[in-house]
Amino acid sequence: MRKQLASNKQEFSAISKEHYDVIVIGAGVVGCAMTRRFTLQGAKVLLVEKASDILEGASKGNSAILHTGFDEVAGSIEHQCVTKGYQEFLEIRHKMKLPIMKTGALIVAWNAEQEAKLDSLKTIAHENGVKDVEQISALKVNQLEPNLASCASSALHVPGEYVIDPWTTPYCYLLQGIEQGATFLRNTQVLSGEYENSQWTLHTNQGVLSSDAIINCAGLYGDHVDQLLIKQSAFEIHPRKGQFLVYDKAASELITKIILPVPTKITKGVVVCRTIFGNLLVGPTADEQESREDTGVDSESLKQLKTQGEAILPALKHCPITATYAGIRPATAQHDYAIKSYPEQRYISVGGIRSTGLSGALGIASYVYEQYLEMGYKHVEQSWYSWPSASSIAQEGERDWQKVNNGGVVCHCELVTKREIEKALTGPLAARSLTALKRRTRVTMGRCQGFYCSAALSDITEPYFDEPIASNSNDN
Ligand SMILES: Cc1cc2nc3c(=O)[nH]c(=O)nc-3n(C[C@H](O)[C@H](O)[C@H](O)COP(=O)(O)OP(=O)(O)OC[C@H]3O[C@@H](n4cnc5c(N)ncnc54)[C@H](O)[C@@H]3O)c2cc1C
Repeated sequence: MRKQLASNKQEFSAISKEHYDVIVIGAGVVGCAMTRRFTLQGAKVLLVEKASDILEGASKGNSAILHTGFDEVAGSIEHQCVTKGYQEFLEIRHKMKLPIMKTGALIVAWNAEQEAKLDSLKTIAHENGVKDVEQISALKVNQLEPNLASCASSALHVPGEYVIDPWTTPYCYLLQGIEQGATFLRNTQVLSGEYENSQWTLHTNQGVLSSDAIINCAGLYGDHVDQLLIKQSAFEIHPRKGQFLVYDKAASELITKIILPVPTKITKGVVVCRTIFGNLLVGPTADEQESREDTGVDSESLKQLKTQGEAILPALKHCPITATYAGIRPATAQHDYAIKSYPEQRYISVGGIRSTGLSGALGIASYVYEQYLEMGYKHVEQSWYSWPSASSIAQEGERDWQKVNNGGVVCHCELVTKREIEKALTGPLAARSLTALKRRTRVTMGRCQGFYCSAALSDITEPYFDEPIASNSNDN
């Protein structure tokens, strides 16, 4: 811990001498995309995060579906942002080498009551501009997905819903921001602040920072940060946990598409889908809870998920479960994102990004930038962009273990090489904990869950981590 505190102190001291156009609070997927957008538009941006890594909040555990926005409320902020975010992701993904699985989705009706809702869902999809959504018969469902339970009565086919990498994606957004001039400060918690003489002064656990404007992307703590800084908030976070089962890789052979239920007003429901890493997911649940931190799973919910999964895909009965995890949605009482601008304080609150933030992040960033321009700012857009990429950790495509001079495979379940690990431990977004290293490389996330490689990993990471691996190897 001493090493980290010393380097943080030096870093902070240099950064706190600067004045920024914008300070973005929170390095979830939204904060990472925001930092990128504002930096590309020419603003001098500082991103502050209280945790020791990016993606430690709601963005840590999701279903990783790139939504088209087909079922969003037309004209809502969420609809605008998801549609725009989806398009921009597809535009930039080749340049950043971001992996994608072009699966498409089936919204399956399992009874007459659900089937009755498909027609109106299709109409909504078409009105939302997702014109290729079509209703298909039970026979066609069976042809497309022969391993599904045979009692499906019909389905909506949404060809444009895809699966992406939930971690490499925001990582690359932020990396591009940093390469274009943004600054990232971790272990820095915003505690209070005031806006005086057209300037923000932020008090953090490390010291004082200053900027012209603030963008609050604090996710599960968005309402708290609003209260700390502007003494009001347009929303209150109601944390909603989603638990998941992760099946062994063999199970991913059972389906090709994302299998969705007919959604309700509360949730998009329990999904069965492959992951970009070659596993199969069943989840999430939707459990309201007080805690904004408790990502524990409980055996009753997991049992129910197992039953639901097997009812949809009966062969799952014979497939081993490799892991479980949970994420918490920053839900609010509203059915839309809670993005609100306070021009008189040069402050924008980006709250309630609950179920679609991975899909919507790039669109949210553009939407918020428009609001910022309305406050009277103007920057000169950068004329040249770098397009950084990360090592591919997706199941498809070439991996480092297939290339020469990789230092050998350290994690045999996920085929992670020594070179990949060493790369993730350096650079502007270096992993400083096992959880961070998992998100960058997938090390210890396979069948043995680190049983065989923890000792070797401990040796490699020792100079970089302040907490030795053994003490945090149970992190999700
Ligand atoms: C179970 C589940 C399934 C989902 N499935 C999908 C899906 O398939 N597709 C999709 O598009 N979306 C999905 N989502 C939604 C998506 O994950 C969220 O919308 C998104 O992660 C929200 O990101 P965020 O950046 O707003 O918040 P967060 O990720 O919570 O980021 C906020 C950050 O702010 C930091 N912070 C808080 N307070 C402070 C402070 N005072 N000072 C400094 N830093 C602070 C936190 O540490 C955190 O890192 C799902 C979510 C869940 C939970």
